[in-house]
Amino acid sequence: MSPAPTVLAAVQVDPTRNNASRSLARFPSNSLDFVVAGAWVGLQVDRANLLRWYLTVVRPSGIFCIVCSAGTERNWWKSATAGALPFADEDADGMRLFVFVKEESSQPDSRNGPEEVRRNVCPLCGGGEFDLLRLMKDLETPLFTCRASSCGLTIQRRYSRGEFSGTIYQSRYIEQYRADPVAARMRTAEAEWFVGWLGSQGVSLGSSIEIGLGDGTFSGALQRAGIRTAGVDFIPVALELAARQGTKPLHCGDWETWACPHEAEFDVGVMIHTIEHFGDPRSAFTKLVRAVRPGGYLYVHTPNHDHARGSDWFHYWPEHVSLFGRQSLRRLFVSSRVEVCTVRELYGDDLIFIGRKV
Ligand SMILES: [Zn+2]
Repeated sequence: MSPAPTVLAAVQVDPTRNNASRSLARFPSNSLDFVVAGAWVGLQVDRANLLRWYLTVVRPSGIFCIVCSAGTERNWWKSATAGALPFADEDADGMRLFVFVKEESSQPDSRNGPEEVRRNVCPLCGGGEFDLLRLMKDLETPLFTCRASSCGLTIQRRYSRGEFSGTIYQSRYIEQYRADPVAARMRTAEAEWFVGWLGSQGVSLGSSIEIGLGDGTFSGALQRAGIRTAGVDFIPVALELAARQGTKPLHCGDWETWACPHEAEFDVGVMIHTIEHFGDPRSAFTKLVRAVRPGGYLYVHTPNHDHARGSDWFHYWPEHVSLFGRQSLRRLFVSSRVEVCTVRELYGDDLIFIGRKV
């Protein structure tokens, strides 16, 4: 007789607070035999990321179900369930049930991987040797993740830049943060910590520039601390939200292609969950360094790839094209003539470097 299944937990989520990913974060990867996602998942603005979270906690060959309302398109979950084989698809009692079996981890083919990996050159150190960490072959456009042997920068490649700004960075990219008051409180606390750190160094800053404003919370908190803030973002609503908190919009569009007229002008340059979105992070960072005056500061906050365990790390989103750890972020700073002042780890998987322009 097989043992009765044990229900380990029911995760209660409040869709208006968008807190499912944090609730699921307490389960180790590959730990549960069977996971069901309820109909509310389809209502979430970042449902693709939520589904990736669910899949992460299911063990290989485990079962993953989504219960939706009948008539839900069969396509909306497609990109999010790479790594899961469709097993059944049933309509009953006005509901539609999708059942998947999680694949055994797709392990890289060989050390240097397929042709797509071998063609790459590291945008940070120029090295051409990579270790393939992860390969998602079953997507329409294969996504691969590989780590440069010499500097440790990890790159993911899938989309062209044009598709990026057109299909990913739309208003709802901001809305998901706006819907989350907990995230706003965390970001405010982070800005207050930074202002406190500056105070502990005997420094007070007059002005800042932030690239990738998001919902404007960080710059808004600096503004309230007496710093004149300005920023750049792809998305009009990001600049509007930031402006409501006193931050001056400098440019709406792509930072990398913008002919930024500001040189040696700001006391601090900020990038929070931004550097990982640039295909050429060194060029994007150098441009920010140019906008900061000599002796001014650089503040970079990014997912910490040193913490990636296995092929289903949470931050392997396709739009995270350049993932850093301590070694590669230090290299980025030093090679841009920025001296590293302090390093901070936050929320388990985040890394913050503060540096001073020489
Ligand atoms: Zn490199």
